[in-house]
Amino acid sequence: MRADGTFIAVEVDDAAAADAELARRLTEACPVDIFAQADDGSLEIVERNLDECVLCRLCLDASPAGAVKVVKLYDDGAVLV
Ligand code: SF4
Repeated sequence: MRADGTFIAVEVDDAAAADAELARRLTEACPVDIFAQADDGSLEIVERNLDECVLCRLCLDASPAGAVKVVKLYDDGAVLV
């Protein structure tokens, strides 16, 4: 799944997005509530909050390598590492 704001896009691989435990961790980790959990436990990206991203990397730390990508649309699509 991927969602795009004006400055930031977030991409989560489909297997990771379906993992309720990972969805819970991401929902807890992000300080600006870019992640939420659907009723079935799967991950949702909260599009209206995307541009609030503070590039803190907590979502990257909370997930397996490569499962979550934060894309800096304002920087030619550079991926936060
Ligand atoms: S880098 Fe930080 S603010 Fe941005 S989506 Fe990840 S946890 Fe949220």
